[in-house]
Amino acid sequence: MFDLIIRNANLPDGREAVDICIRDGEIAETGSKIEATATAEIDATGRLVTPPFVDPHFHMDATLSLGLPRMNHSGTLLEGIALWGELRPVLTREAVVERALRYCDLAVSQGLLAIRSHVDTSDPGLVTVEALLEVRAKVAPYIDLQLVAFPQDGYYRSAGAVETLNRALDMGVDIVGGIPHFERTMSEGAASVEALCRIAAERGLPVDMHCDETDDPMSRHIETLAAETIRFGLKGRVAGSHLTSMHSMDNYYVSKLIPLIAEAEINVIPNPLINIMLQGRHDTYPKRRGMTRVRELMEAGLNVAFGHDCVMDPWYSMGSADMLEVGHMAIHVAQMAGIDDKRKIFDALTVNSAKAMGLKGYGLAKGCHADLVILQARDPLEALRLKAHRLAVIRRGKIIARSAPKISDLMLEGRPAKVDGAEYAPLRMATS
Ligand SMILES: [Zn+2]
Repeated sequence: MFDLIIRNANLPDGREAVDICIRDGEIAETGSKIEATATAEIDATGRLVTPPFVDPHFHMDATLSLGLPRMNHSGTLLEGIALWGELRPVLTREAVVERALRYCDLAVSQGLLAIRSHVDTSDPGLVTVEALLEVRAKVAPYIDLQLVAFPQDGYYRSAGAVETLNRALDMGVDIVGGIPHFERTMSEGAASVEALCRIAAERGLPVDMHCDETDDPMSRHIETLAAETIRFGLKGRVAGSHLTSMHSMDNYYVSKLIPLIAEAEINVIPNPLINIMLQGRHDTYPKRRGMTRVRELMEAGLNVAFGHDCVMDPWYSMGSADMLEVGHMAIHVAQMAGIDDKRKIFDALTVNSAKAMGLKGYGLAKGCHADLVILQARDPLEALRLKAHRLAVIRRGKIIARSAPKISDLMLEGRPAKVDGAEYAPLRMATS
């Protein structure tokens, strides 16, 4: 006797018609035509059932603040940082909490159940840190929220940032952040990487830095981050977010750099929506894409996980908490349109991101948390193409969000009465 059985599920690895049996919030058994009963059953009717989406790079202290106190007119990263600097002193804990909770509602509806958020530690009052610690506790039953201490104005560049970052970690922030390319000089950037990795090693914490979010091919802090990761024994516990300068780097230099990143087992976290929007702004034509070398990093065996980064904040006026939108952009910007490519992109929104965050009990194996999303699509390729509708979102074996299938009634003589966009793929390419 189980609590819930989901029957006829297609899985991301290509298996079809699988039954998933859930007991006590865990996946108890999976297989074909399992003869068992349960308190509740869902027929997935051959639709894709996946572990939840995971966003390994976000800014929950800024989300949904679009237009406060004004819009970003140039649309650049630097005006975004300046604009956030205007907003930060007038933020209240209550307002940050309210906006973050609203974002988490949206995330749940999109099947996004784990988020790593950077939290700005630049303000001495640490209002944003207090707010997001409160949010982390409030959403714990339905979202795994990790917090990164992020010195937005620079670790050395901003007076007091060293003290406030350490205070944020004392308060319970999970991860050490950084922004070496924003320090005053290249050497101070490198020094900040060393100092922050040392803090992580001493405190036994992971590292996740905004690293080389620039078009400058000489911005090479990822090299220092990899070297310090090895030196401090932090292999596998460090993430390099953005790495956009790699797009513009000399190819010979990159041929030495990628093996170094692989040796350090750095988790690579590009943010396709924000990178394509904010980078290349000083170019006329041809205009660079500002996306790191996704295919090459994946081929080197690195764990590549995509982040959403921003939703309706000083840096980005769009976004919808939909990680499939992130993957959709990644396919285009990285030009990864092959069948295997798309599978890898889907993994970068799910299992790779879970690995980057170090999530325990994630996946579809027996004993994993019964955290699942049923999509109005038959396989990951269709899910990405359609940015597929979420039919049900399940956390620890309980449905926490559901919606009716998206189907249009058609009033055309001699044509079908209903249109389901998920039924239009000419060929099923699910397996083999
Ligand atoms: Zn970011």
